[in-house]
Amino acid sequence: MSASCGLCERDLEHGYLCERDTVALAARLAQLPDLDAELTMHLVPARSGFGELVATRSASGPRSPINEAVFDELHDNRSAAVVHSWRVDVQRERWPQHTAPPPAALAVDCRWLGMELEWIAAEYPAAGELAREVRELEAQLRSLVGDPVPRRQRLGLCVAAIDGEGGVCGAVISRLPDETRLVCRWCSTPYGPEDWLTLKHFQPGEAA
Ligand SMILES: [Zn+2]
Ligand SMILES: [Zn+2]
Repeated sequence: MSASCGLCERDLEHGYLCERDTVALAARLAQLPDLDAELTMHLVPARSGFGELVATRSASGPRSPINEAVFDELHDNRSAAVVHSWRVDVQRERWPQHTAPPPAALAVDCRWLGMELEWIAAEYPAAGELAREVRELEAQLRSLVGDPVPRRQRLGLCVAAIDGEGGVCGAVISRLPDETRLVCRWCSTPYGPEDWLTLKHFQPGEAA
């Protein structure tokens, strides 16, 4: 039976999440609690309490200075609820005999999931969905705190030969603004700054 990554859909020998997306998920789980804490600082100015701000917001009158999107996110505590529901599900799949975990702080649930990632990637069919939701949470929190996920610049398709018949890898090669050493995520061919021009000029499928 062939398997594929639940997030990027690349072929896998086994399991439900590729190594690259597993590493990215681990990094996101580690960052979420900090982003969430940062969000609180963005909403509540140093010299006023949370209750005071709530009152300001519901009063009719001039528009509240509070970022309403930040307020709604905090009010719903959505990140913690989403992450906790994944923890409940992973635990139910892995240890059906255990009782559901009690409510926990976002950081605790992130850490718990982080420690189970090896099992999640290998054995948990919903791993791709979990990784996608955590990625969305990260992007949402980052946009609320004004620190958007850096955009990747597309350099072209990987031109590494993969067989003796002129076939090339074809994976998208892209870089973050400060990234200089790249590795193709499909075939592991390294690309440095000296190769970027080559990538631009020798694209598969384009007439010379
Ligand atoms: Zn993947
Ligand atoms: Zn490649």
